[in-house]
Amino acid sequence: MEMFHISDVISLLGLPGPPHGRSSYYIQCPCCDELPRNKHLNINLKKDVYRCPRCGISGGIFDLYSLYTGVPRDKVRKTLVKSLGLPMHLNTERKKYTSTPVVDCPITDIEARNATYTALLSKLSLAGDHKQNLFDRGLSDDDIIRLGYKTTPIVGMSVLAKQLQNEGYYLAGVPGFYKTDNGDWTFVQEKRGILIPVRDIKGRIQGLQIRRDDVQKRKFRWVSSADKTDGCRAESWTHLVGPIRPIALLTEGPMKADVIHALTGLTVIAVPGVNTLTQLRTALTEMRQEGLCEIKTAFDMDLSTNHHVQSAYKNLLNLLDEMNFKFGTYIWDPRYKGLDDYIWEFCLNRRKSQ
Ligand SMILES: [Zn+2]
Repeated sequence: MEMFHISDVISLLGLPGPPHGRSSYYIQCPCCDELPRNKHLNINLKKDVYRCPRCGISGGIFDLYSLYTGVPRDKVRKTLVKSLGLPMHLNTERKKYTSTPVVDCPITDIEARNATYTALLSKLSLAGDHKQNLFDRGLSDDDIIRLGYKTTPIVGMSVLAKQLQNEGYYLAGVPGFYKTDNGDWTFVQEKRGILIPVRDIKGRIQGLQIRRDDVQKRKFRWVSSADKTDGCRAESWTHLVGPIRPIALLTEGPMKADVIHALTGLTVIAVPGVNTLTQLRTALTEMRQEGLCEIKTAFDMDLSTNHHVQSAYKNLLNLLDEMNFKFGTYIWDPRYKGLDDYIWEFCLNRRKSQ
């Protein structure tokens, strides 16, 4: 009967303890996480084991101690007895942990995500109907290639994941990837649609959105593998298209931003939705350092009628105000729902009249 617990070893080694009540949590992996903010080593207090889905190391209490101290595994027990005293098996009832069925793997850094997503997209193609859909919005062949839009894969997710893994890409902590019951990596199977890379200030892919075919509600969704084994939750990334200039347009939806930029050349920032501003402050702070000082908001016209949207919009303006940005609103012909529709019509008419 083993009487040491992994929590004893964790405190002995001075490793971070679990967030309140958690029986499973992640810390920086000593083998593969170069940065402290990357946390891939899963500690399971209930099972007294650790495991890193990224590099594959795993083990129990003695292995963990050995891993951090270099003490050979067969000497660990003796060392622990010296440090902790003899294992107590009397009246030491196991601390009760609330059960946390699946804990998401923490998101990995932007460089790794960008590399993995870029490699993934390079293996996919864009279906004819999707290409036509994008042409109809005013995008050209060159735009589509530059933006990297692709059709969601329908089959062969495990093969794709395997290829990426063999090529050296990290899949742990990249939203969309998770492990099957067999322990193999795979990629989420979503409704068919267009994959949209959501990029940061340096053009790196932070995450992917899907514009789903044949759905009326929630047409755009994040690629996410939350609540799946070794899966990872997507965050509400802010998208940027175009070079940083003193003035940028701020709208809703990365695809819309891409279309507006392609048609007008303007620099466009997109939040996923007017009510999802979690990443906006960070993104704007970075952009300001590069010279952004004024923001023109361009949200859909139903702003004027929907109260929920109105209050979310107010929060957005408060944020801009608080951050000392100069801001104003782009007004366009209210017969068009979105600025992209309006611009499109305008460009099309201009093209016709030439
Ligand atoms: Zn690792």
